[in-house]
Amino acid sequence: MHTNNETSWLDESLIWQTLSQAGQHDSARVREILAKGRELKGIGMAEMAVLMQVSDPELLSEIFETARYVKNEIYGPRLVLFAPLYVSNMCCNECVYCAFRVRNKEIPRRALTQAEIAEEVRILVEQGHKRVLLVAGEALPQQGFQYILDAIATVYNTKVGHGEIRRINVNIAPLEVDEFKQLKAAQIGTYQLFQETYHRATYMAVHVAGPKKNFDWRLSAMDRAMEAGIDDLGVGVLFGLFDWRFELMALMQHAAHLEAKFGVGPHTISVPRLEPATGSDLASHPPFAVSDIHFRKIVALIRIAVPYTGIIMSTRETSDIRRETFALGVSQISAGSRTNPGGYHEGEPVNEQVSGQFSLGDHRPLDEVVRDISKLGYVPSFCTACYRLGRTGADFMDLAKPGLIKAHCDCNALSTFQEYLLDYASAETRAAGEALIAQRLTEMDPANRKTAERLIEQVRADERDVFV
Ligand code: SAM
Ligand code: SF4
Repeated sequence: MHTNNETSWLDESLIWQTLSQAGQHDSARVREILAKGRELKGIGMAEMAVLMQVSDPELLSEIFETARYVKNEIYGPRLVLFAPLYVSNMCCNECVYCAFRVRNKEIPRRALTQAEIAEEVRILVEQGHKRVLLVAGEALPQQGFQYILDAIATVYNTKVGHGEIRRINVNIAPLEVDEFKQLKAAQIGTYQLFQETYHRATYMAVHVAGPKKNFDWRLSAMDRAMEAGIDDLGVGVLFGLFDWRFELMALMQHAAHLEAKFGVGPHTISVPRLEPATGSDLASHPPFAVSDIHFRKIVALIRIAVPYTGIIMSTRETSDIRRETFALGVSQISAGSRTNPGGYHEGEPVNEQVSGQFSLGDHRPLDEVVRDISKLGYVPSFCTACYRLGRTGADFMDLAKPGLIKAHCDCNALSTFQEYLLDYASAETRAAGEALIAQRLTEMDPANRKTAERLIEQVRADERDVFV
């Protein structure tokens, strides 16, 4: 189906050339680029390459400051929350960094039944989650792809009291256009797929068996998803496999390609760092380990380069790193995660590294994460309005670009947070959350404040799922 043309946008030599030409620049050039970043229209690859070279502490802190500014202007203090839902760890691939790889005999294999999926969902809904990211290895049970479609239906159909999952994002292996169409018809939110590494030779070295060995099939997956009508797409790199500078440049090429071909860039970018995984030496010793300072720089540079693309931070990272990167541009975070199928039902595993996909940095339950971020001044959002109102792809970007989305999102974040506080929060979290809502209302402009107050009143009067 795919041709070379579909992946020829990835231009390794241009990346190396741009990186080598960037060299060391004087502070005036760096500040010029940062001033452009503050215009909220993004920056180009050559400019990003210049910022990558910066190591001077003063200039570095100006980069971070610019990222904070962009994040605030576009997203305000909101942080959207979700939980991963691992339905199967059966896999036919041999990705040397992953515990689910086919030759790893050290973990028990399992694909949840539909009843077991419903049980996992009940637990997540009772915690207060409204969004899940459905994750699976590439070997599906007997029903094949239908298994995924059934799982999505099961998740949407599981209601508990006031609650239900209102948006399912999906992270599964690349599909054919027809299958993507079925995924779209099943009403997924975002289709997420990480290229792992955009460096072809490294990709070939770490994917040693199975269909995932086909670099171009993966690289062209987002094009097929777009062709099938899925226009909320999540891209990402598994940092640690290759040089982060190369990967970031390639990510920018991917985003530019989607924007040029389909008129809409990626909806989200994920920044997983390689974590230790059972049965993988490479995962414990990343060949291109990314330091914490470089990791913060990666988040900041993405925020400045593609201001309207969400950045997702998972619980692979510790609570400290997560806190630092919220300010630099992260817009979505997972919380209370388990990375083994059935993990929510089973509770905290004795040794998560043995049963999960990789080891986690943040083990705190959702209630604790919500309380923590509220105290830091961020508004936890459980909003799912955009996709349900059809504000996806280019429609979302049109709304987001002039900053209009902020008016909708701020109000919806507060109303869904109010729902959470009333239905699921501990007394301590409710107190912190109510104080934050009161504070935020005073900071809003009069029109938005009126809308937000109306929505919050509706929720307090026992209405649910209200949004603008
Ligand atoms: N099997 C599908 C695939 O590989 O695209 C989707 C699910 S896979 C479980 C989701 C992601 O987990 C992969 O894309 C990879 O980036 C990430 N991952 C795998 N091993 C990891 C590790 N040791 N540390 C951090 N992330 C890892
Ligand atoms: Fe399978 Fe995905 Fe893990 Fe690779 S990363 S072994 S494809 S689950």
